[in-house]
Amino acid sequence: MFCTSCGKAIEPKTKFCPECGAKQADVPSSPVSASAISPSPAMSAPSRPALPVAARSGKLAVWGAIGALVLVMGGGVGYWGWNNKVARDEAAQKLVSDEAARKLADAEQRRVAAEKAAEAVEIKAAQVLLAKHIAVEEAEAQAQVGRP
Ligand SMILES: [Zn+2]
Repeated sequence: MFCTSCGKAIEPKTKFCPECGAKQADVPSSPVSASAISPSPAMSAPSRPALPVAARSGKLAVWGAIGALVLVMGGGVGYWGWNNKVARDEAAQKLVSDEAARKLADAEQRRVAAEKAAEAVEIKAAQVLLAKHIAVEEAEAQAQVGRP
């Protein structure tokens, strides 16, 4: 029979391949069906021994870990960049809103000052009007008194 993993010819009913250590199926298969099911890499390239299953899965695990690490790092960098952008946007918005608030406060102050000035003008005008009224009334009263 042949190893189902590396295709090396091994003793029939052998549990594990002496070449690669792969566990063999309990039912012994004919050489024809074995080679038909799994084309042997050892046959096509006899000088290059296939990697044992354990080593291959170990390599896979390493590459998987590296891939996961790259993904995590990429995600971290992406999140950092995104977070940085959000912080920058927030800072810019705060600056804009601060500026807007300052402008609004300035406008409000100017409006209040203008209102006060207008009020003062109105009061002054009213006072002037009242003074004129009083003067006219006094003049009329004196004129009446002066009459015979
Ligand atoms: Zn083998």
